[in-house]
Amino acid sequence: MNTLTNLPPLSQVIAAHGLSARKSLGQNFLLDLNLTAKIARQAGDLTESDVLEIGPGPGGLTRGLLAEGARRVLAIEKDTRCLPALQEVAEAAEGRLRIINGDALEIDPLAHLTPPIRVVANLPYNVGTELLIRWLTPRDWPPFWQSLTLMFQREVAERIVAQPGGKAYGRLALLAQWRATPRIVMHLPPGAFIPPPKVSSAVVHLTALPEPRYPADPKILERVVARAFNQRRKMLRAALKGMVPDIEDRLRAAGIQPTDRAETVSLQAFCALARLMPGGAEAERG
Ligand code: SAM
Repeated sequence: MNTLTNLPPLSQVIAAHGLSARKSLGQNFLLDLNLTAKIARQAGDLTESDVLEIGPGPGGLTRGLLAEGARRVLAIEKDTRCLPALQEVAEAAEGRLRIINGDALEIDPLAHLTPPIRVVANLPYNVGTELLIRWLTPRDWPPFWQSLTLMFQREVAERIVAQPGGKAYGRLALLAQWRATPRIVMHLPPGAFIPPPKVSSAVVHLTALPEPRYPADPKILERVVARAFNQRRKMLRAALKGMVPDIEDRLRAAGIQPTDRAETVSLQAFCALARLMPGGAEAERG
């Protein structure tokens, strides 16, 4: 039987199982096991964690996670063609890898995982962003995960970590930074993938905060931020007009000039404004 170290190279696995990359599934594979081990290391110490991997494909990153000592890996893959290749990794991993075939947007993996849980994924970008937003907006906080280590199109990664004052700053930055600490930990050129995508990529590592950085009701904060950035070129007194009659007074009370634009306003100030909106003071009392 194979062990993890003598499994065949990924190029052979792909050829043996006929895994020609499908665009419809966003398949850009990582074949360099040094690189996948490096990505796995960005997720932190895995030896005491269960890892949820979404979109393992032929299993390059999966092998990296197992080689880095993950206590257990649960991998959810939509493409049935990848299952025999993943089964070979599971056999070599001697009980540490479990594979589920299905759509990560529809499967609830929690029944199969024991905390602490770290999530690691190299996913198609649209699925990655949708899952990130779901993972950041659960009903209760703290969430099921301790950290997320996710590959994104570089431009999306920059939007997640953006600070006030630039074009990249918006809803995604505020959402991610309110409840987590996101960092870009790696940049990857298109040539790192087979086939190469059109754009560069980056790995973002997010650690969950035990509680949101500043108090605010999640729904009110989301509403204020959405309104503010829907018309990001407008001054806030115009963009938020109609939310409440005395919006200018509330903006000033939150330390925001009514003539400011959304992209210059800090997360802290948006949270202060959310607390000053009708129903928003509840958040302060927890
Ligand atoms: N992790 C592998 C790697 O790094 O080489 C594959 C990465 S490839 C960018 C994305 C993988 O996600 C593919 O294997 C694809 O089939 C899978 N995938 C796409 N959509 C998915 C979904 N909704 N649920 C689960 N897996 C999905």
